[in-house]
Amino acid sequence: MTECLFCKIANKEIPSNIVYEDEKILVFKDINPEAPVHILIIPKMHINSVQDINESNSNVISHIFAIIPKLAKDLDVDEKGFRVVSNIGEQGGQTVKHLHFHMLGGRNLSWPPG
Ligand code: AMP
Ligand code: ZN
Repeated sequence: MTECLFCKIANKEIPSNIVYEDEKILVFKDINPEAPVHILIIPKMHINSVQDINESNSNVISHIFAIIPKLAKDLDVDEKGFRVVSNIGEQGGQTVKHLHFHMLGGRNLSWPPG
């Protein structure tokens, strides 16, 4: 059995507040939101981070990005804008070692990030 937190969420062993789901991906609300809209988009299959994307698994990444415009519309951030970000490794601030894209919106987001 996997010890990965987001694999457990994908397998419904741990509950989450699901926003969207299909056979390849799960989208759920971040437990510690940094903005009025803060969701996490994950592939159901375990990939450690962006660093482990390759030609054989990248179809799930294009699927994620094909769903983002629909999510933005559903969450009503499509017109005002939003941000999609993935933290990678220690200096990138990645705390969960299962690839995820944060989608943040609903307020003005500063740049550059801290
Ligand atoms: P990162 O720091 O980029 O690895 O992002 C991990 C994110 O997962 C953080 O924003 C956490 O708030 C979020 N998180 C951790 N545990 C859970 C959980 N059980 N349900 C939803 N979000 C979570
Ligand atoms: Zn995992």
